[in-house]
Amino acid sequence: MSVLRVAYENCDGCGACVAVCPFDGVVLEEGVPRFGAGCRVCGLCIDACPRGALGLPGEEDAGDVADLSRYRGVMVVSERAADGLDPVTLELMGEGRRLADALGEALSVVVAGADVDAEARECLVHGADRVLVLDHPSLAHFRPEPYTDALEGAVRHALPSIVLMAGTPVGRSLAPRLAVRLRTGLTADCTSLEVNERGELLQTRPAFGGDIMATILSGNHRPQMATVRPRVMPRAGRLPVTGTLERLPFRPDPEYPGRVLEVREKPAADTVADADVVVAAGRGIRRAEDLDMLHRLADALGGVVGCSRPLVEAGWLPSTQQVGLSGRTVRPKLYIACGISGAIQHVAGMRGSERIIAINPDENAPIFDVAHHALVGDAYEIIPALLDRIEERGDARAV
Ligand SMILES: Cc1cc2nc3c(=O)[nH]c(=O)nc-3n(C[C@H](O)[C@H](O)[C@H](O)COP(=O)(O)OP(=O)(O)OC[C@H]3O[C@@H](n4cnc5c(N)ncnc54)[C@H](O)[C@@H]3O)c2cc1C
Repeated sequence: MSVLRVAYENCDGCGACVAVCPFDGVVLEEGVPRFGAGCRVCGLCIDACPRGALGLPGEEDAGDVADLSRYRGVMVVSERAADGLDPVTLELMGEGRRLADALGEALSVVVAGADVDAEARECLVHGADRVLVLDHPSLAHFRPEPYTDALEGAVRHALPSIVLMAGTPVGRSLAPRLAVRLRTGLTADCTSLEVNERGELLQTRPAFGGDIMATILSGNHRPQMATVRPRVMPRAGRLPVTGTLERLPFRPDPEYPGRVLEVREKPAADTVADADVVVAAGRGIRRAEDLDMLHRLADALGGVVGCSRPLVEAGWLPSTQQVGLSGRTVRPKLYIACGISGAIQHVAGMRGSERIIAINPDENAPIFDVAHHALVGDAYEIIPALLDRIEERGDARAV
């Protein structure tokens, strides 16, 4: 399958594409390039072709996408939970509002579903300038095909410069589909978003296994699309309503594959993600049985025990308790990091906590860069001392 577009009339079979490809993704067959499974669509061969015979698929009909000036404003794609708007929508709206204000442009929110008036109103009272409602029985339950069609229609109608979606199972299913339809880029799981002086979205996320933070720009295509995981951004507050509500038509394709036969509620998983207080253990805790003191501290504070990845790998705690890039993102009122060094992959999942206390004997440990309170010392001395004080005073929160 050719993943790049070849203008065969311009190709003279020089082989420059084959020579430049570091992935063995292209070969010459009968004098013309054929792209194979190795092709990463990196574009090196497009630049190397002396006759301009190669291009990305869809570039030939990307005329409107390239006209960046037509795209304005920030659009948030909302998500629904069983009982109304999913809280992640308010988090995206908080961030969307901030970016829209920085650009001096409007914040719109798309609400798709069936009977979604209440959710649409919620978006208005949380600061949306414009709520685009796609209300249709075929959108009652999430299915990728109708939702992709509906959202594509909303984006083509409003032409936002930025589209923010949630890094949830629904968002992760929809965002790439939508990006392909719109022939634009997508940066998944951003940990920070800013706009530069040219109004471009700076999309920052860990890259190369988290060894570096990469800031990614969609220089030539609109909209600029990013997903953000739940609990990474603060929620939008309530504001006086000034926005408007607009209903968009939606004509479902009768041929959509699949039907929803039954909807069963999934029991809420008991994870660190929803706790107000997290006492997190790292490799500074030497034995599984020593976790007992952390459980006692967590119980006294009405919280739960979380951990860094090595403790899950050691089988000491379930993966539902892992905090970080490949675990859960948490935003508790209090996060106590016990024996955690503060690797970038861990910090990515907890830096949004309201108050962070770190216990570590190494005063140069990176965890202290994000901690509000540094307890430089041995967790084996500090935690028992804290527990003793709590027992003495009988009021953990005061301690
Ligand atoms: C793709 C990828 C994804 C990853 N995802 C995650 C993730 O989601 N979550 C995550 O946590 N990691 C993740 N990691 C692993 C991450 O890079 C680190 O290896 C890990 O976070 C280190 O865990 P730690 O801080 O517990 O251990 P260490 O880095 O070994 O730190 C232990 C700390 O304990 C301190 N210490 C020693 N003795 C004591 C004591 N008596 N009292 C108090 N402190 C003490 C030490 O000074 C040290 O700072 C990921 C890595 C990769 C490559």
